[in-house]
Amino acid sequence: MSAASPLSSPLYATYARAELAFERGEGVWLETTSGERYLDLMGGIAVNAFGHAHPYLVEALKRQAEKLWHVSNIFEIPGQVELGRRLCAASFADRVFFTNSGGEAMECAIKTVRRYHHAKGQPQKNRIITFEGAFHGRTLATIAAGGQAKYLEGFAPNVEGFDQVAFADRDALKAAIGPETAGILIEPIQGEGGIRPVPHEFLRFIRELCDEHGLLMVLDEIQCGMGRTGRLFAHEWAGVTPDVMAIAKAIGGGFPLGACLATREASEAMAVGSHGSTYGGNPLAMAVGNAVLDLVFEDGFLTEVSRKGLLLKQKLARLVDAYPDQLKDVRGEGLMLGLVCAGAPAEMVARLRKHGVLTVGAGHNVVRVLPALIISETEMDEGVNRIEAALRAAGKSAAA
Ligand SMILES: *Cc1c(COP(=O)(O)O)cnc(C)c1O
Repeated sequence: MSAASPLSSPLYATYARAELAFERGEGVWLETTSGERYLDLMGGIAVNAFGHAHPYLVEALKRQAEKLWHVSNIFEIPGQVELGRRLCAASFADRVFFTNSGGEAMECAIKTVRRYHHAKGQPQKNRIITFEGAFHGRTLATIAAGGQAKYLEGFAPNVEGFDQVAFADRDALKAAIGPETAGILIEPIQGEGGIRPVPHEFLRFIRELCDEHGLLMVLDEIQCGMGRTGRLFAHEWAGVTPDVMAIAKAIGGGFPLGACLATREASEAMAVGSHGSTYGGNPLAMAVGNAVLDLVFEDGFLTEVSRKGLLLKQKLARLVDAYPDQLKDVRGEGLMLGLVCAGAPAEMVARLRKHGVLTVGAGHNVVRVLPALIISETEMDEGVNRIEAALRAAGKSAAA
């Protein structure tokens, strides 16, 4: 069952992998190569919004696979126009650029911001303000944007053009704006930073500052977007709209897909030749992306995410009350939840795994709970029961 030992592995040693290999999945369930079943409460890190092997998505991919996989962006790709139109119709955006990943969607967002000011004849405006605890990807520019020492170490020289301030700190943000500032970039809910929701007033404050200083407001909704919080995009809760936004993860439901969305004004300078991608938005990805949107747009779907999110949060809050020595808090929006642990989250994740439930760690001692958005109440109860069994077992061993 266990994978090859690190010494004999042909792979880069970049991941601290669990010794588990899955063979198949169905909905929120995963089955290992040796037939053990796990309840998946992490959904490939907020990717598998419709669980595993959703028949509608499988069918969409199969149908496209038999027709056409790839042609290049040298040609028209009707699925891009369709998915682009639908994303724009449902959001602030007028234009979309498709990518294969979140990091690439962020790269496009960063380039869009720089190019916007360049085209306005103010190329000195090329710096973007970001926030402590941020995560925007693992490319050279996005590790610089995220500003986390652990991801920057050994990769100098760092990409220039990012200024980081304390999380949701108004005074620090105001003070950081200078003649070279081009935009402000933030995740409405920090994901890998530890499920830290940005106060809605702070998002509105960013919008005001951007309007006042002629800056672009950029959102990273790669993790919190596409229905995860019970609205199509998390910023909708705050009643503000950005100028540019990166999405990925759930939009492909497991097929590699990302996108950068922007207003007409913000994207105008991204003219012919300014950016490109070989694979971005290829017919396979577009078939799946459009099918995912069909499901997200089904009547009442997002309301259900909200309702189930609230229910799950209440159930987890009960565990926080019952096991205060292990759990400190539960936070988050919709089905993007975080359990704040008393100890190291990696340990908690490993213990939960032993009880047959999959979660994922994050910063600030948080274990993320990011189930498929189609999870049923019975499956949520099963998840909470398994988490409780793990907490109870640990409590006993601590008392012994
Ligand atoms: C996952 C993630 C990214 C990076 O996406 P990749 O597809 O891994 O490149 C960027 N920002 C946020 C908020 C994410 O959660």
